[in-house]
Amino acid sequence: SLTLGIVGLPNVGKSTLFNALTRNDVLAANYPFATIEPNIGVVELPDTRLVRLAEIFGSERILPATVSFVDIAGIVKGASEGEGMGNQFLANIREADAICQVVRVFADDDVVHVDGRVDPLADISVIETELILADLQTIEKAIPRLEKDARKNKDLVEVLEATKKAEEILTSGSTLFAAKDSFDTSLVRELHLMTAKPFLYVFNADESVLTDDARKAELKASIAPADAVFLDAKVESELLELDEADAQELLDSIGQDEPGLRSLARAGFHTLGLQTYLTAGPKESRAWTIHKGDTAPQAAGVIHTDFEKGFIKAEIVSFDDLDAAGSMAAAKAAGKVRMEGKDYVMQDGDVVEFRFNV
Ligand code: GDP
Repeated sequence: SLTLGIVGLPNVGKSTLFNALTRNDVLAANYPFATIEPNIGVVELPDTRLVRLAEIFGSERILPATVSFVDIAGIVKGASEGEGMGNQFLANIREADAICQVVRVFADDDVVHVDGRVDPLADISVIETELILADLQTIEKAIPRLEKDARKNKDLVEVLEATKKAEEILTSGSTLFAAKDSFDTSLVRELHLMTAKPFLYVFNADESVLTDDARKAELKASIAPADAVFLDAKVESELLELDEADAQELLDSIGQDEPGLRSLARAGFHTLGLQTYLTAGPKESRAWTIHKGDTAPQAAGVIHTDFEKGFIKAEIVSFDDLDAAGSMAAAKAAGKVRMEGKDYVMQDGDVVEFRFNV
């Protein structure tokens, strides 16, 4: 499954956040026989629609979609210079599908900042610079090879041009992700460039920032088009110890509507370009993970490969229509249940039953 790699400077709260993620691990609860890797934290994607579906269908249990985070420990500054640890660090980032950077905004004289002061934008730029430099090295190695190959294979001319364009963007100090509106990263996919991956920023903040909407808006604007999540990593770990009422009280006291891990799950899912569809019955109400733009047979394949091969059609009702109708029978009577074929592109909130040959 797709993962977000957690990176950040030392002492910004990565371990604190990651511990909260792993203690909140849903695999242990829902999939007792799953192998749990120590460096992966799996969190549920909150979805209140499943609660309603379970009510309509009398489901015994609810299985939400999940989001996986990988802890990418290691040095940051100088990583692109390729010293042993730096290489490993970059190799781990290359394996992740998106980059989740934890950024320190909290002030705490007891926690040393590596550069001596709390400066979120400077920290972001330190990490970005390492990734940009590493991508430039990859490109510099690739260009002579592409130039040679493009003479024989005309298809590679376009790739070579895109690689040179990527070099220009990176040299100007921008990541490829930040330039995604003007640059099509799919042409340079083969190069596995790190800054072409989607970015997500977690601002690890204290109450003074969490309650300061203007400051949050400013930070958010500085990292657009990436997504931003604001949370207090220390509070997140405390929340896991509390019952619901006490947890809510603690959240209220720092001006948060919901636990930060929930916002993080949602933003992570979105950053990875994923979406869900829903199935429901007496056994379970469940969310299944697909890519945006997936067709009905591809969605069926997530349940079982045979479902994709033997796909006939999908019986689909949107969650909102089903919710309003109150039952599948009522939704059908109201003409809200559609039969869709193999070209249908799945929409968020589709409640589905697949018909297939075995
Ligand atoms: P890492 O090096 O990025 O993994 O950082 P850690 O998670 O080990 O955190 C470094 C120190 O900062 C620890 O003493 C944490 O308790 C503390 N810390 C982490 N998050 C917060 C926070 O949100 N607020 C405050 N005040 N301290 C924090």
